Amino acid sequence: MARYIFVTGGVVSSLGKGLSSASLGYLLRSQGYKVRIRKMDPYLNVDPGTMSPFQHGEVFVTDDGAETDLDLGHYERFTDISAKQSDNITTGRIYSDIIKKERRGGYLGKTVQVIPHVTDRIKEFIRKDITNEDFVICEIGGTVGDIESLPFLEAIRQFSNDNGRSKSLFIHLTFVPFLKSSDEIKTKPTQHSVKELRSIGIQPDIVICRSQQSIPLDQRRKISLFCNVDIANVIETVDVKTIYEAPISFFNQKLDKQVLKFFKIKSKKRPNLLPWKKITNIVLKTKRTVNIAIIGKYVNLKDAYKSLDEALTHGGISNKVKVNLIRIESDKLRSKEIKSKLNNVSGILIPGGFGKRGTEGKIEAIRYAREKRIPFLGICFGMQMAMVEFARNILKIKKAGSSELDKNCFPVIGLIDEWNKDGKIIKGTDKNLGGTMRLGLYEAKLRNNSAIKNIYKYNIIKERHRHRYEVNINLMQKFEKKGLIFSGISPDNQLPEIIELKNHPWFIGVQFHPEFKSRPLNPHPLFSSFIKAAKSFNGK
Ligand code: GLN
Repeated sequence: MARYIFVTGGVVSSLGKGLSSASLGYLLRSQGYKVRIRKMDPYLNVDPGTMSPFQHGEVFVTDDGAETDLDLGHYERFTDISAKQSDNITTGRIYSDIIKKERRGGYLGKTVQVIPHVTDRIKEFIRKDITNEDFVICEIGGTVGDIESLPFLEAIRQFSNDNGRSKSLFIHLTFVPFLKSSDEIKTKPTQHSVKELRSIGIQPDIVICRSQQSIPLDQRRKISLFCNVDIANVIETVDVKTIYEAPISFFNQKLDKQVLKFFKIKSKKRPNLLPWKKITNIVLKTKRTVNIAIIGKYVNLKDAYKSLDEALTHGGISNKVKVNLIRIESDKLRSKEIKSKLNNVSGILIPGGFGKRGTEGKIEAIRYAREKRIPFLGICFGMQMAMVEFARNILKIKKAGSSELDKNCFPVIGLIDEWNKDGKIIKGTDKNLGGTMRLGLYEAKLRNNSAIKNIYKYNIIKERHRHRYEVNINLMQKFEKKGLIFSGISPDNQLPEIIELKNHPWFIGVQFHPEFKSRPLNPHPLFSSFIKAAKSFNGK
């Protein structure tokens, strides 16, 4: 029977609950246990799909097409276990299901209440789709004391009662500040946070204390005493230099050992930390850098392209270079500045995106990459804009565009039914838009003797998608005649998946999001190859 580990946070947000859960997941998995990690988000959005990256960071897409919280990306990257739709739930989803059921008369006239109906639905989520897992780690978003988290905390309290206290472990992550003026480490916020948790009926079994410096024994004793937690279960996590150090740091602090001890399990084997040590070393010691420009709408927000930033770092790790990201806001990029802003970059990347703002700047930058033979990677919207650039400047289709941005353009990119009707182009209508995203894993056939085949080394690949518009397949011959090759295509030959330029050292566009599948211990081949090309680029 699965054992459940609940991870809550206190004092302040952004303490690294996701990273702690992911690191624990790795340590347990590496000892041969089957692990699953899930996230409960207290906000009222049904899923993060419609949330702005400005507010909430990236939307992480799973194999089965769920649009989820970016913490699931951390989990995947650290544990290499593919997350599923059933691993992320929000208050909004719970309420929306409950209200739908109520409208159908599903509650047979009973009063529908937070307890038991909402809490029951949360408990259902915790148990759902679990078969032979040894450990299920559930992270509860938000901070203890928030109104929104209350039903989740009540549900996990009930769950531990139903499931058996010995099969449910509570980990509470708090902040232990250091006060410079008095040269002291303060444990009071942690005491208060645990008190708050206990007032809801949850006694944490392990307290992880995030701190800028090591916590002296005396202070740990104090936390142990006031929080009613064994001293061995007061675990510190001191800021690491790179996130890849986190599994090593938690192992040194014996987090996994204490977890196994709680469940009265003997460790099967020592976790393998060698790969993390290796990459930590590379990340911290590498001197040589390559400059990569990312030109997008949300570049100034730290987490808006989380998986992409990670994947580029992974590409750097596999080439033993540091990737220096130069973030350029696309709507501030004027054509006359292109040269000066992109003068010292060795690679240009246009990420996924939606909407018209900043597109002309992106198109200009793509032209610069094509003409100056600078390695270029276009992801999803980035690929679509590369097609538009080529159509306008090489195929001389002046009105070439994407119908997402201009309903009166010549749709090089558009909704597929705009050109699938008897081969004739018809104008898309707004009603086509609702709930029509292509989400999750889809196959692509790779063409022989192409750059992409050389990179992946497979005939068929599977990658994650999140887009609504497609490249107009009817234009394939026109593009190919001029040297832009459709080197990856859907198995039914309908949807172009990958494009590449023939006479260019490295110019590739992909309709999917390869960044979601890159792992620090297993960098994605496309990013490794892109950074390799950037490393050997010596243009100018
Ligand atoms: N806006 C484009 C589309 O919907 C691209 C989406 C993306 O880059 N993820 O097709």
